[in-house]
Amino acid sequence: MSSQHLNVPPENHVKVLDGQGWIGLIDHLGSETTIVNAARVSFGKLKSAMDEKDVILLHYLIENRHTSPLEHLVFTFSVHCPLFIRGQWHRHRTWSYNEISRRYTEIDLEFYTPPVLRKQAETNRQASVDSPDFDDTSLREEIRAHNLKSLEFYNRLLERGVCREQARGVLTQNMMVTFWGTVNLSNLLHFLELRDSEHAQWEIRQYAQAIKKLIKPIVPHVAAYYEAKGQVW
Ligand SMILES: Cc1cc2nc3c(=O)[nH]c(=O)nc-3n(C[C@H](O)[C@H](O)[C@H](O)COP(=O)(O)OP(=O)(O)OC[C@H]3O[C@@H](n4cnc5c(N)ncnc54)[C@H](O)[C@@H]3O)c2cc1C
Repeated sequence: MSSQHLNVPPENHVKVLDGQGWIGLIDHLGSETTIVNAARVSFGKLKSAMDEKDVILLHYLIENRHTSPLEHLVFTFSVHCPLFIRGQWHRHRTWSYNEISRRYTEIDLEFYTPPVLRKQAETNRQASVDSPDFDDTSLREEIRAHNLKSLEFYNRLLERGVCREQARGVLTQNMMVTFWGTVNLSNLLHFLELRDSEHAQWEIRQYAQAIKKLIKPIVPHVAAYYEAKGQVW
């Protein structure tokens, strides 16, 4: 792992949200072979490469939610996302998190402006609907201006000597934050099931889909299992 500033995307990052957000794979521990070795630990034999029987075993473990062998494969991601997406993400308690604190720094403040505004769904209070005929240009411009105004106010508070930990309260929920999240494969698959779903908010769904792209080279047979069920990985 090369040294880098936490707010800078890793080399292999995937851009999301029209290039305003990103996610990168910082590190991982283990492989698909680790999973099948863990599942067969009682037999005392270690394999170093996957064969056909191992793929069948791996698919059996996923299918039957025999999750503990999957927990031996662990990923660390670096995520740059709006504050309101971080709120949804951090509800997943089985991840470990660390984040740049606005109590320490006021540099590099960025804000998300949605690339497209969606309309409120009429039947589901939590959901939105795509509306291609929605003329959102001036509203998106207002959101951008509102974000900047909150930043100006924040800077004014700092100039007047207000502490960062209180001043940050005026920044909009569109503020971009950067955090590291570490999770094992079993809990990650649960996250992907919930967050790459048509019930999830479009913004977090983009991150879930990016995670699939990032981990597919490490777990090609896991990806193949879900692809066989009609999912896009
Ligand atoms: C579409 C959608 C809409 C949502 N809407 C709302 C909402 O309106 N309001 C709201 O508050 N939340 C909402 N959530 C968040 C949701 O309730 C969960 O908090 C979030 O999805 C994390 O899921 P999880 O607890 O399964 O994941 P994790 O926290 O990663 O946990 C994974 C699994 O570990 C087990 N587990 C973890 N911690 C415990 C524990 N303390 N006790 C027992 N078992 C545990 C459970 O089996 C759990 O499923 C929504 C989520 C989605 C996907």
